[in-house]
Amino acid sequence: MIVAANFKTNMTRQSTREYMDVLGAFLSKAQYDDTIMVFPPATALDRFDADIVIGAQNAYATRNGAYTGEIGLEQLEEFDINTLLIGHSERRHVLGETQEDIIHKFNFFKAQGFKIIYCIGEPIEIRESGSDALMEYLECQLDGIDLGYDGLIVAYEPVWAIGTGLTPSTDDVLLIHNALKKMIQRPLLYGGSVKPENAKAIMALSSVDGVLVGGASLKIDDFKSIIQSTDSRI
Ligand code: PEP
Repeated sequence: MIVAANFKTNMTRQSTREYMDVLGAFLSKAQYDDTIMVFPPATALDRFDADIVIGAQNAYATRNGAYTGEIGLEQLEEFDINTLLIGHSERRHVLGETQEDIIHKFNFFKAQGFKIIYCIGEPIEIRESGSDALMEYLECQLDGIDLGYDGLIVAYEPVWAIGTGLTPSTDDVLLIHNALKKMIQRPLLYGGSVKPENAKAIMALSSVDGVLVGGASLKIDDFKSIIQSTDSRI
């Protein structure tokens, strides 16, 4: 299982370090063979003494250069970071990244051998248009992405479930993941209001290879509890 925490624009350099100390100590005592990832804000990227993959929430498709406000490969290499979120719904819908921007970014970091957590997910109006429209929408978000890339992990995150407390039923998650698995033979995460109360049921689904957690990852006890839920599938 992969359990990933996306802090978004939360936490500081100091609180991230404290969090990583607690999480690192928890993981070193427990016997999980899961992959735990944390995506702190860019200002808190660093090396940590823990068995945790540190990834960046975003980066610009450049080594360095005149891109005010962005970070590139050089800033990630300083901390040996080679894991990146691409296509998150907040970058698509709030920050206006187009599929073209996303493909460009994907190809740049793929060429650098990055592990890429590539996010897809439908807004509510598409969801309400039925399952054909939904799958068509998701397929468009996969357009131009090398689905055979061995550094690829896909996260299915319905936009209407992110940060809202709403989640699709486990039957719906299973249905959509099964359909996606026909196209993508890579790990497939579910994201969208995952919390301690629903993590076990979601991770018990055969086509769910892990979860991407936003809000609930900010409380270390909740994130630890979600990690403990990986035991649900034998
Ligand atoms: C996310 O940001 O990827 C996410 C799934 O957020 P939340 O868990 O808060 O819905």
